[in-house]
Amino acid sequence: MRYQSTRGQAADLGFEEVLLAGLASDGGLYVPGHWPVMNAADIDRLRGADYPSVVTATMHRFIGDEISVPEFTRLVADSYAGFDHKAVAPLKQLDHDLWLMELFHGPTLAFKDYALQLVGRLFDRALTRRGEHLTIVGATSGDTGSAAIEACRTSARIDTFILFPKGRVSEVQRRQMTTAPGDNVHAIAVDGTFDDCQDMVKALFADAALKRELSLSAVNSINWARIAAQIAFYAFAISALGGPVSFAVPTGNFGNSYAAAAARWLGLPVAQVTIGANSNDALARLIATGTLERRAVTPTLSPSMDIQAPSNLERLLFELFGRSGEEVRSQMDEFRKTGKLALGKEAHAELKRLFAAHAVDDAATLQTMQSVLAESGELIDPHTAVAVAAARATARDQHSPTVVLATAHPAKFPDAVTRATKRHPDLPGRLADLLQRKERLTEMGKDLSALRSFLRSHARRAAA
Ligand SMILES: *Cc1c(COP(=O)(O)O)cnc(C)c1O
Repeated sequence: MRYQSTRGQAADLGFEEVLLAGLASDGGLYVPGHWPVMNAADIDRLRGADYPSVVTATMHRFIGDEISVPEFTRLVADSYAGFDHKAVAPLKQLDHDLWLMELFHGPTLAFKDYALQLVGRLFDRALTRRGEHLTIVGATSGDTGSAAIEACRTSARIDTFILFPKGRVSEVQRRQMTTAPGDNVHAIAVDGTFDDCQDMVKALFADAALKRELSLSAVNSINWARIAAQIAFYAFAISALGGPVSFAVPTGNFGNSYAAAAARWLGLPVAQVTIGANSNDALARLIATGTLERRAVTPTLSPSMDIQAPSNLERLLFELFGRSGEEVRSQMDEFRKTGKLALGKEAHAELKRLFAAHAVDDAATLQTMQSVLAESGELIDPHTAVAVAAARATARDQHSPTVVLATAHPAKFPDAVTRATKRHPDLPGRLADLLQRKERLTEMGKDLSALRSFLRSHARRAAA
């Protein structure tokens, strides 16, 4: 399988090169050169399959002959072996036509583990083959940081440095980063905001010499391999319930929702896809009006969705603009300059065929957590609640059940859950002592040169 950049000016690459590159050299994102298609017999074979088999059957089509099926099957099996539910992504019924798909049974209790556990292993395999080391640096507002640390800490070829805003992530989120074992993982508390952390990381990546010296890389959601692994969510629900199935997706950076569209292009019977947004509703406004407009980010009870310029949208725009890299380039340019991007009539109509959307404020989020508990006995986290509320508010397809992606465990956001339901969500057994574990972290000001020297003295790549 070959990949091309959404901006049309970078070289086409294979799967492993795309995995290691992240962003394309022309600033675009990598997408498959063509969409592989599963036929009716392929889809039929998925019926009742277990989660790892579904991942292998869908994702291997995006890898092609770079990794053999038996080797990939082993990597996938290993990725999900440590998850704490036998079904990996169990489905729970909330109402006659409404289901939850629990995507929080991985090591850090959010759906990001489902792709990152596999991506970490793919990184390790690629680096071992090449005899290389990598230094992963990332900024996190909460969930990505711990998932990246857990994905990479067992690789002797990767050092991971995660910056987070001091005092602005939840205690559970912080401890998931600061208590992870391994001298190749480093949690850095920055005296500043998430944007400050992100600016420091961007400045590092802009320093070409340092980037080379340390082999800097990223694992944020622009990485194609993460998207490819997430297509399995949709295939698995369809294999379990029998298709067609509709979905409601709590959406931030648009990785999961875009994977739903990709599942449809792959030939899977995905019926309706509803985007659940919090008050940061850029995508919902785009779908309603055809215009994307940058606005300031408002903090909400669902912090992992506090995003107003979702990066994976560019991948969808590429399809909406008839796969024209030139058109994407000029529209992204326009957006950068003016903070506005207007879809043409046809592209807007196609977008509306692909997605419904609904924005939900904090009050409705709390109310939904409470009503779901009252009606079905399930505690849900605030991100999941946004999508349940969006599904309930949307005129639903009558001929398919709706599956809501439950993207985080309620115990990851205990304050919001307790406020809504008067119940305190317990951490799963293997994390029950999280609040007693010894923390290990480095504190730092907004000081780029301090960060640089910390990286140089701790990354093994620097010594190599
Ligand atoms: C990252 C995250 C999201 C948003 O997912 P995207 O793929 O970025 O749209 C939603 N919920 C939770 C709990 C998350 O961690």
